Amino acid sequence: MVVGSGFFGLTVAERTASQLNKRVLVLERRSHIGGNAYSEVEPETGIEVHRYGAHLFHTSNKRVWEYVNQFTDFTNYQHRVFARYQGQVYAFPMNLALINQFFGRSFTPDEARALIAEQSAEIDTKDAQNLEEKAVSLIGRPLYEAFIRGYNAKQWQTDPRELSPAIITRLPVRYNFNNRYFNDDFEGLPVDGYTAWLERMAEHENIDVRLNVDYFDLQDQIPAGTPVVYTGPLDRYFDYSAGRLGWRTLDFEQEVLRDTGDFQGTSVVNYNDEDVPYTRIHEFRHFHPEREDRHPKDKTVIVREYSRFAEDDDEPYYPINTEENRAKLERYRELAKIEAKERNVIFGGRLGTYKYLDMHMAIGSALSVFDNKVAPHLTEGAPLDGSLDA
Ligand code: FAD
Ligand code: UDP
Repeated sequence: MVVGSGFFGLTVAERTASQLNKRVLVLERRSHIGGNAYSEVEPETGIEVHRYGAHLFHTSNKRVWEYVNQFTDFTNYQHRVFARYQGQVYAFPMNLALINQFFGRSFTPDEARALIAEQSAEIDTKDAQNLEEKAVSLIGRPLYEAFIRGYNAKQWQTDPRELSPAIITRLPVRYNFNNRYFNDDFEGLPVDGYTAWLERMAEHENIDVRLNVDYFDLQDQIPAGTPVVYTGPLDRYFDYSAGRLGWRTLDFEQEVLRDTGDFQGTSVVNYNDEDVPYTRIHEFRHFHPEREDRHPKDKTVIVREYSRFAEDDDEPYYPINTEENRAKLERYRELAKIEAKERNVIFGGRLGTYKYLDMHMAIGSALSVFDNKVAPHLTEGAPLDGSLDA
């Protein structure tokens, strides 16, 4: 049994069905499959909208790339992000164009490097203990204050000095004009949309997906010993016995604009000023320029994204990497090991391991969990390994 039909759950289900010829029951609480990668067509415009926030597929993992290509072709979309600050729009992430525009001069790569080295000299990156120190050590204080501080204040509502330096590793700094957002070998969007891709993963005749079913409503009826891969929230599984793990959620304000066919000229603009309440605006038509002949000329769909702490009933989106949450996670790690031993339940995916996982990471991790845990258990009767690692 697999609880949750996101990329992690569907990958485990698909491998089990196709490689081991075993039957898999997938339970999904929502009314649709696919977890947070789910997308749907906005009916008035025909534009594909990612319901739980924009999803860009990218990976350097060859095994993952080959695996996903069994289910979908990809477009040649390359993600680029722009950042608005104090009335100007900059090419993001930090690159020579941004540095030149921000400081109002045209630096050569060497000059820009020297400038940023000088501005970031106050902290050594290897000594950085938190997000603020890490960012200042990489890009210096002026750029930190313009592009990182306000955005993070809105994104995390947590003092940057309490956040892990790891968060900012995702933001590269480049001393050239390359403004591609991802450095990966493979990148693109599924040609006929995420939902078609996800549905193809669940198509195998050995897979039975039940929507609108919450695992906890029928947990008592599951025969003892049934192997379960659980991809829902880890703390919920244990009735929050070690306390609630903190999450951030997002609110998406979707709007169909009827007076223009192009609102911002690109798919994503970050709003880095702290006094603008949203963090970014997505304009979904720009994710699929190859569909332009099918998109309306006079209408467009935009989504404003707001970030806040998740309350009990909110969708948990981003784990919050603080000391307190890490301590709770340790306690849940121990409980997870016992649960594998006593009840044959293992945990995976973004919610089940309380880890920020991109799609390729969730898929890669599920492929490893299948190889290292699920297949040995189902073929040789090896005990399920309850560590939260793949
Ligand atoms: P999920 O997709 O969360 O799936 C878990 C499923 O379990 C859900 O469908 C849930 O309803 C179900 N479930 C939970 N509890 C129960 C229960 N009790 N009973 C039954 N079902 C249950 N990744 C990228 O690679 N690129 C991106 O650009 C990107 N952008 C993102 C933007 C946002 C806003 C978010 C939130 C994530 C983004 N991701 C992105 C990450 C991507 O969404 C995840 O990697 C992927 O969804 C992880 O899959 P998963 O199966 O682990 O979890
Ligand atoms: N970030 C930032 N300024 C920006 C964009 C991102 O400081 O304009 C930081 C912020 O900490 C954010 C992290 O970089 O949480 C990752 O941002 P990205 O947009 O890559 O990730 P996503 O929010 O889409 O998961």
